[in-house]
Order: sequence, then C-alpha cells, then structure tokens
Amino acid sequence: MKTAADIRKLAKDEEIEYLRMTFSDLNGRLKNVEIPVSLLDEALSNQIKIDGSSITGFLPIQNSDMYLYPDLDTWTIYPWITTGGKTASLICDVHNSDGSPFAGDPRYVLKRLDKSLAEIGCGHLNVGAEMEYFLFKTDDAGHPTAELNDQASYFDVYPDDAGEACRRETVNTLKKMGFLIEANHHEVAPGQCEIDFRFDDAVITADRIQLLKLTTKAIAVKYGLRATFMPKPLAGMNGSGMHLNTSLFDDDHNLFDDPKAVNGLSSLATHYLAGVLAHAQAFTAITNPTINSYKRLVPGYEAPTYVAWAMANRTALVRVPDGRGPATRLELRSGDPSANPYLAIAAVLAAGLAGIKQKLTPPANVEDSIYQMSAKQRQDQEIVQLPSSLPKALVNLKNDQTLGESLGPVVAKYLQIKQAELTQFQLSVTDWEKKTYFDA
Ligand code: GLN
Ligand code: MG
Ligand code: MG
Ligand code: MG
Repeated sequence: MKTAADIRKLAKDEEIEYLRMTFSDLNGRLKNVEIPVSLLDEALSNQIKIDGSSITGFLPIQNSDMYLYPDLDTWTIYPWITTGGKTASLICDVHNSDGSPFAGDPRYVLKRLDKSLAEIGCGHLNVGAEMEYFLFKTDDAGHPTAELNDQASYFDVYPDDAGEACRRETVNTLKKMGFLIEANHHEVAPGQCEIDFRFDDAVITADRIQLLKLTTKAIAVKYGLRATFMPKPLAGMNGSGMHLNTSLFDDDHNLFDDPKAVNGLSSLATHYLAGVLAHAQAFTAITNPTINSYKRLVPGYEAPTYVAWAMANRTALVRVPDGRGPATRLELRSGDPSANPYLAIAAVLAAGLAGIKQKLTPPANVEDSIYQMSAKQRQDQEIVQLPSSLPKALVNLKNDQTLGESLGPVVAKYLQIKQAELTQFQLSVTDWEKKTYFDA
C-alpha cells in the first residue's frame, strides 16, 4: 500500500510534471483531468473536483459537484508521453460533495461486491482478461480507414503479421507500467491481435483493462494505425472478445480447486458456475453492452450463442480450461472489450455469488458443438439462447431482481443510458438500409 509520502517521493524522483487523474464513466469510457504536479497536495487530499453532470450516467446538472479520491496504488507513468513533460496517472474513486462514495461509480460497484465476498468466507475474486482488438490503417489526416493492417490469421508470423512491431511496443510499454504480460499474438481475423496479462484481484484487473486499451490505442497511433476494441468491426469475420477467467481465492488458496471432486471443481465452483449460467441472459446486457456486440454473438466465429458450459468446447458460454490447482478457473467467453470492465466483472461476480448463496447446481456440461445442434437437441439438453440483441438483453437485465439488488442503483441508470443509445440508433439510417432498400 502506497502512502501520500510515497507518491510525493515518486513524483519528485521521477521528475513528473503532470498528473492525470482518471476514472471511468458508466459506459466504461476512461476519463481524465490533468493537473500540474504543483497541485499534487490537492490531489492527494481528494480536492480535485469534476462536473458530474458532464459524465455519462453520473449526476443531474443541478447538483453536479464531485471529487476524485485517487487510489495511490494505481500510480503509473505513461511511457508514451515523451515530450512536453513527464506524465503519471492515478486511477480515482468518485465521491459525492459530502465525501461519501458515489453509488454510480462503476469502480465503487465492483469494490463493494468484491469486499462482500468476506461474508461468505472468500477472500477475493481473481480475474484474468484476454484482450482482442483490430488494427486499421489510417489516411494522411490520421483518420482510420476501412483497410486492415494485414491479411494474416491465428498465430501467424512476420511478415504476414504486420502488427508485430506495434504489438511488441505496446507490450513493452505495458510491462513498464507494471503489467505481467503472459502472451501476445495475431488473432484469427485479418488485422486482429490479442494481448493477455496475468490475473489479479478483480479491481486491479479492471483498472488494467482500462490502461491496456488506452496504451494500445496510443501506441497504434505512433505506427500510423488505429486500434479498435469494438466487438465486430467487420461482417463475416471473427469479432473481438474479452474472455474473463475468474476464480475465488482465500489468501493464496484457490477455492475453485478440489482434486477429489468430479472435473477437479469444488462445490463452491459448481455453485458459482450455476449462478453465472442462471443470470447470463441478464448480465449479457453489461458484458456485451453495444448494438454492435450482438453482431459478434452469432454462430461460426468462436463466440458463444447459447448458455452452456464445457471443458474444451469453444462454442460454450463458460469453459473450464485445462490446469487445476492454483490455475483452476472458469472462462466466460461471451464478454467483449466494449464493456465497462468494472461493471462487467461485478455483474459476473453478482451472478456467481447468487449461485453460491442459493447453492444452485449447474446442468451437465455440453462437449458437442452447439453451433451444429438442432433446436430439438438443444431443447432436450435445456440449452437456452443468449439474447440476440441489445434490447432483449436490457429487458432481461431489468427483470433480473437478483442482479438489480446486488449491483444497486447503477442498474437503473445503466438501463436509462442504454435506452437513450437505442433511441439514437433508431433515428439513424445505416448504409445497409440504403443499399438494400434504395431501389425498393
Ligand atoms: N475472437 C473470438 C471471440 O470473438 C475468440 C477466438 C479465440 O480466442 N480463440 O470471442
Ligand atoms: Mg486467448
Ligand atoms: Mg483469442
Ligand atoms: Mg480464451
């Protein structure tokens, strides 16, 4: 745990000139205000103010003062800022003007749920995220074009993998920022990449997802490229997922691991798994939050479309990858990187917790490709569909009382901003419509 004195010393020793105070809005967009290091004391005593009415999902205009409370353990230097003054950042919690934590701050929602794990004798939730994204070429003005960075595929090598140098610099930058990078590679679709970093406590991983997206985009610009984490940038090709690997720990002991049990999964793990399956149709509204998200959740592209679990079958929603002991985990394959990572992890945890509290039992695992099953086969195995659109997912979330109670007032706010997004879409006319109906 870092103290204010540690931060002052770091700022001095590293000759920091600017500090970025960051937080995330309800959509999961990273926001920041920059202050000169001369105001460090104000930042450290939680005096940096924001206008909550200008942040999506925060406060109404008539009562909008909020304060940033920096989490000192998130201190990191932005290595890609090499001119105009060395810059560090602190990720902040958002507080109301009376000093209380703001219930609509996504980071607070996750922190609160993670803390509640103590009530059921679990220390904390560990999360590992697999981050997929696309690299597009840019035009002379620096705008992204429709041209992909390469035509390579899964695990391809240089020079087919034209993103190698950019990805290497991204990974090196993340390492400097304290990430333990486990793997990076070309993904299945042309222009697509993946970076994986070591699992950690839920809040730390959510913070890192935000930093990884920021860093990946910043480094891509240096290479004349644009990185996008939108779930399905191209029709007819794999989309980008954000697989979430979760496990409950007590100190250093993995509570999902039980070498004597069937499949090596403890009863705690099976209850958690059952909860995740039971609430998947509702939390999808949070793990897959955009209209575009549902274009990825279609058969044929390694993304799940039905609620089922498996050991090795990649068409299932939840997989139990090889590796037991401390590595025992459940991989949720539906989420995508457009999700607010704090809310997405909180929603999955809330579902798992409900399963544990109600001692739910999961259905049998499904090891056959669900893409190839007939409706009858799915029905016989009680395999239900994931929502096929954002409006359907939002209705499911609205009707899920358990998730609503667990996540708190943020759900109502979330439904409100997503409804507004749907209305905007309804008012827009897409290229597909123009092409298809022009000669109607
Ligand atoms: N890109 C796929 C998805 O949409 C995953 C592919 C993979 O990781 N093997 O989830
Ligand atoms: Mg992977
Ligand atoms: Mg992948
Ligand atoms: Mg995976």
